[in-house]
Parts: sequence; structure tokens; C-alpha cells
Amino acid sequence: MNATPLSEIAESLWDDALALAQQQLGPPLVSILSPLYWPHLVSAVLMAALVIVWERNHGRAYTWASLKSTLRAWVHPSALTDYTYWFVNGIVYSMAVVPLLPDDAPLRDAVVSQLYKTFGERSSQEQTGTLTVTLLALAIFVAYDFGRFVGHFLQHKVPFLWEFHKVHHTARVLNPFTTFRMHPVDLAVMAVCTSLSVAGMAGFILYLFPGDESLWGALSLRVALAFFVFDLLGSTLRHTSVWLSYGPILGRIFISPAQHQVHHSADPKHFGKNMGFVLAIWDWAARTLYLTGKHETLTYGAGDGDDDAYRGPLRIYGMPLIRAAQRVYQTCRKGMGKLRAAVRGTSIPPVAPRSGTDG
Ligand SMILES: [Zn+2]
Ligand SMILES: [Zn+2]
Repeated sequence: MNATPLSEIAESLWDDALALAQQQLGPPLVSILSPLYWPHLVSAVLMAALVIVWERNHGRAYTWASLKSTLRAWVHPSALTDYTYWFVNGIVYSMAVVPLLPDDAPLRDAVVSQLYKTFGERSSQEQTGTLTVTLLALAIFVAYDFGRFVGHFLQHKVPFLWEFHKVHHTARVLNPFTTFRMHPVDLAVMAVCTSLSVAGMAGFILYLFPGDESLWGALSLRVALAFFVFDLLGSTLRHTSVWLSYGPILGRIFISPAQHQVHHSADPKHFGKNMGFVLAIWDWAARTLYLTGKHETLTYGAGDGDDDAYRGPLRIYGMPLIRAAQRVYQTCRKGMGKLRAAVRGTSIPPVAPRSGTDG
């Protein structure tokens, strides 16, 4: 058997890399699933204009200085890191991490077979009604959103995972490319949490509606439509400084751009608030909801003065790995110390010398 020449392997890898780069660079404007799809950008600009007009009419001054600082934010070193990292990680994540992600099919099948065992077989239907399909699509959307909340909650509460999630919080200015400022490990954690949640719900649906071959196509279409509407309604503004708040009532149900901006605040009183993606009800239930009203001036960052250490793709990849390894080392050392202390505590105590009678 002839070995493949190295030049051919290199060429094919380069072709793959180029194709992936094209996917990352092309879809932002033309892919309906990208947060940077052109109608989302157009709607974001229109909504930003409306917010500015509304704020001006309510006494907020917009001067040349504020316009200049907005323009400066687009060329801030933190923003330049966002642009380069978006391009580099588009290739690295797709090539190195996506192939390693676990398949969610075994969990889905396990849910179906467990339900069969517990409740018995269900008679199969040919066609599912439109209203039922819409409600099922909503259930999948809610399951996905719940998985995202759980993933985000863990990323903030588990110190080891925080080291990777911190990358997203070290952005000192926000722009739509900050959405992609996430370490591959962070992205993988989120992918696993959401796919577990969706696979659980999908297994439940497969059990309830067996036999309808067209169901999954119809569900996918509706879920994609739900994300399209979500992006169209201003989700792009989350990673900008445009203060679009939903107020105290709607803000308890949906996370507004302003609420996500609070999530990026370097002020300790905002740490760990508003971890929801679309729905705010999870934060409400977990008591991590921070409602927004009037414009708040925020400083963005992780809050420990360490943001500039995460400048450039190499540091974004490397710093979390070093810091996470340090945490593991420290935890092991502490654990060993406690173990040693416990062993010493359970050993036979030295016998105190008797006084008086022996001498
Ligand atoms: Zn976060
Ligand atoms: Zn964010």
C-alpha cells in the first residue's frame, strides 16, 4: 500500500482549514443561524437608533465626546483581540474540539427505552397536528435554554470551569464579536450541557410521538425560526453598550441586552447575575436575576484587574489552561494536607508520663 505523500496531507488539511475559515467568515453575513446574519445586524442598528432617540427624549445627552468614545471602543485592544480570536478560534474549535464532542444519541435512546420500560409502548401516529408541533418545538427551545443556564451557572460557580469562562468576561469593551470570545473548553462545556438537555427532551418526544417521520423536520424548522426571531429582536445588542432594557415585568421573563451587559460588569454587586440566555425565569428561580431600568453606566471586565493579561488569541488559549492547572495543583495540595492531618489525628496519641508512683 502506498503511503500518502506529506504534501497531499498538508494540502488537504489546508483545504479543510480554508473551508472552515470560509464558513466562519462567510456565514456571519449570510447564514441564518449566525448572530451576525445581515438582517440581525440591520435590526440591531435600527433598534440602537430607536434607543438613542428615546434616551435623548428622556434627558440623556449624546455629545460628540460620547460618539468618539463609541468609535474608539471598536478599535480598543480588547476589541482587536475579539476580531482576531473570532477568526482563529473559528478554525481551531471546528477542527480540534467539535470532532471530540460526545454524541447525544445514546442519552436520547436511553430516555426512550426507559420510558418504554416504565409506561409501555405507545401506538404510533402518522401525522402530528400543527399546534402540537409548535408546542413541542417550544419545549425543545426551553430545554435548550435551560441547558444553557445550567452550563453558564456551572461556569460561574465551579472555580475550575470559571478559569475558562473568564475569557468571555475579560472583554473590556463589548461588540458583537465578543459573543465568540469563548475558550474551546468553555464552548465544549456549554455544548455538552445543552445537548444533554435537548437529548432528554427529544427522547421524551420520540416516546410520545412514535411513527411520525416528518416530525423532526417540522420541529427543526420551528426551533431555527425561534432563534431567528430571538436574534432579530435585538440579541446582537447584548454585546454592545446600547442600553435596551425590558423593564421590571418583561425582564423577569426574558433577558434583555441591558441585563446581559450587567452580566459583563466589573462591579462585584453584578457578579454572577443574569446567567440566562433567552429566558430570565431560571435566574429568577435561582435568585440571580438583576432587573434593569434607567441607563446604568457600567465598566466591563472580570473584576479582578486581570483583563489585560488575556490579550491576543495565544494568551486567551494559554492563560486558562495555566490557571486551571494551578487550581488543580492547589486543590490536590490542600487535599493532601487535610489527609495528612486526618491520618495524624487518628494515630495513637502519645502516652502521658505517669507522675509520682513509678520513680
Ligand atoms: Zn458569564
Ligand atoms: Zn456575553
